Amino acid sequence: MEIATSKPHFVLVPWMGSISHIVPMTDIGCLLASHGAPVTIITTPVNSQLVQSRVDRVSMPHAAGIAVTTIPFPAAEAGLPEGCERLDLIPSPAMVPGFFGANKKFGEAVARHVLGQDADRPSCIIAGMCHTWALGLARELAVPCYIFHGFGAFALLCIDYLYKQGRHEVLASPDELVDIPVLPPFECKVLGRQLPPHFLPATSMGSGLMQEVREFDLAVDGIVVNSFEELEHGSAALLAAGARKKVFAVGPVSLCHEAILDPRASSDDARRCMAWLDAQEAKSVVYVSFGSVGQMPAAQLMQLGKALVSCPWPTIWVVKGADTLPNDIKEWLRENTDADGAGKCLVVRGWAPQVAILDHPAVGCFMTHCGWGSTLEGVAAGVPMVTWPFFAEQFINERLVVDVLGIGVSVGVARPTENVLTAGKLGGVGGTAEVGAEQVKAALKRVMDEGEHMKRKAQEFKEKARAALQEGGSSYIYLEELIHSSV
Ligand code: UDP
Repeated sequence: MEIATSKPHFVLVPWMGSISHIVPMTDIGCLLASHGAPVTIITTPVNSQLVQSRVDRVSMPHAAGIAVTTIPFPAAEAGLPEGCERLDLIPSPAMVPGFFGANKKFGEAVARHVLGQDADRPSCIIAGMCHTWALGLARELAVPCYIFHGFGAFALLCIDYLYKQGRHEVLASPDELVDIPVLPPFECKVLGRQLPPHFLPATSMGSGLMQEVREFDLAVDGIVVNSFEELEHGSAALLAAGARKKVFAVGPVSLCHEAILDPRASSDDARRCMAWLDAQEAKSVVYVSFGSVGQMPAAQLMQLGKALVSCPWPTIWVVKGADTLPNDIKEWLRENTDADGAGKCLVVRGWAPQVAILDHPAVGCFMTHCGWGSTLEGVAAGVPMVTWPFFAEQFINERLVVDVLGIGVSVGVARPTENVLTAGKLGGVGGTAEVGAEQVKAALKRVMDEGEHMKRKAQEFKEKARAALQEGGSSYIYLEELIHSSV
């Protein structure tokens, strides 16, 4: 790509933790381009199609170009299966260190590529959270290096507080309540076991790597956040003051696709979902999805399923890993839910067009695992939530949604679900059901039947989210500042 503009050239390298890291960073690239800055997004072969397809879906008449550059990821060299180019594709926790080793080599290859370009040198690098190698490259180029974690500003503020206080180091038990008073007068208390992995004993990532990521975080020139100033009660400004660096809240970045998103064209699943929604009454549907990686234990899935088929509302339920479920549960799903859209509980086994579903007028409630991408998409769509956190910083996001924003009801999960980073280390939920069907229905009722106040507040945030990205809005201004800070 020939750069023919006075605007700085941004190089973005999304972290390959999961799709949920790659999607918002691609959208940040689209937003920067819509402000006239040329963008290169560097990724690996397996992930490039996802990036390219999002870039292709944005039609911005005055936008600068976005180039997608692919650099091979040395998975096989690190003993990983061929094509294992995201952390969520790893078959075993024992392979996590190998993945990080391969990522270092990927970083060296990215640096060779970038330094080898005489024209089109970057003016700024925005690196995904674990690309610690990006700092050295930025310093060599004498350009700013910004980090994108994928977390919200409130969660980052809590994490910064926990690191500084060392509070988690003196936990007597994982059942102890940890007070994180970063945003008075709001309370934020979570159980020790619900803390983000940074503060948990021996994740499969290892304490050395966690420390390296923290040092990277401390050393970068600024933080880019997918959020908007009006949402998190000044968390971005508090984070900037505490971390003594710039924090750019440029979201909700999913809104960059709004004008052109037509999921009906993308897959059969998408067409089915949208046609089914078209036949439902306004605000009558519960949309249930737990992100791109989270899977609940089979016994828990059954309790959730029983609640969804017996509750009074029509539901769309995204079930990940359906092929790997025990046979009796597969059977139960076949007998009690719909795959064809004829009944009241529609199950989606593939990839749901989440942003379009949330935006559909028929959707009245979002049952979510509180991944930050999903949380913000729910906010941007003005939909109140039932919160069901799994792990990572999701319990902190739940506190934000329920206690700070007042747009959700907790289903009441106490124990995190195990995942590739924490497997067997947390005393998390292994094979049991912590939340019963009646508990699920009670939480849904509080939103669907009794949640007028929540619905009103959610609607207000929807309007504020759109205003933030319009000319003169807070996210618009932050995008301009990000561009000017890199000239
Ligand atoms: N997503 C989607 N369809 C699915 C599952 C997930 O579009 O079937 C998207 C969702 O819209 C969001 C991302 O994947 O952008 C999930 O990100 P989040 O941070 O919520 O959760 P994670 O996947 O990291 O747990």
